[in-house]
Amino acid sequence: MERTFAIIKPDAVERNLIGKILERIESNGFKIAAMKRTHLSTTQAQGFYHVHKERPFFNSLTEFMCSGPVVLLVLEKEDAVSAWRGLMGATNPEEADAGTIRKDFALNIEKNSTHGSDSAENAAFEISYFFSQTEILS
Ligand code: GDP
Repeated sequence: MERTFAIIKPDAVERNLIGKILERIESNGFKIAAMKRTHLSTTQAQGFYHVHKERPFFNSLTEFMCSGPVVLLVLEKEDAVSAWRGLMGATNPEEADAGTIRKDFALNIEKNSTHGSDSAENAAFEISYFFSQTEILS
């Protein structure tokens, strides 16, 4: 059993897609080990995306992530990191496979509806960035 970290981003929350995305998560065999709806501060978003701070889209991305509420999730499944990346699809929805969340729901490369950790190491960092151990129930 592996854990990964997911976010339902502001574009999806705003369009009332929380339920549809959670349905895909659960029907694909993930257990939701932790979940909270919150509104990120600029400091939280900039810290979360610090690896991208030199990218040209950093300011736009962090402003977007603070533009409305998000849902933060800890997901559990065998090979959860790669399984969730697969279910989300490619970063750019135009390149995402049919049937993926980003293909079906994302608006563009930035407003792409969901986040997923790209490695087990980053998942551990991202989970601990937002959740205490007592909030995670396997
Ligand atoms: P991910 O792992 O698939 O989420 O993609 P990245 O780690 O490369 O990028 C992080 C997030 O930054 C993406 O999910 C998008 O929301 C945003 N992003 C990535 N590439 C671009 C880009 O070229 N332009 C803009 N505006 N945003 C981007």
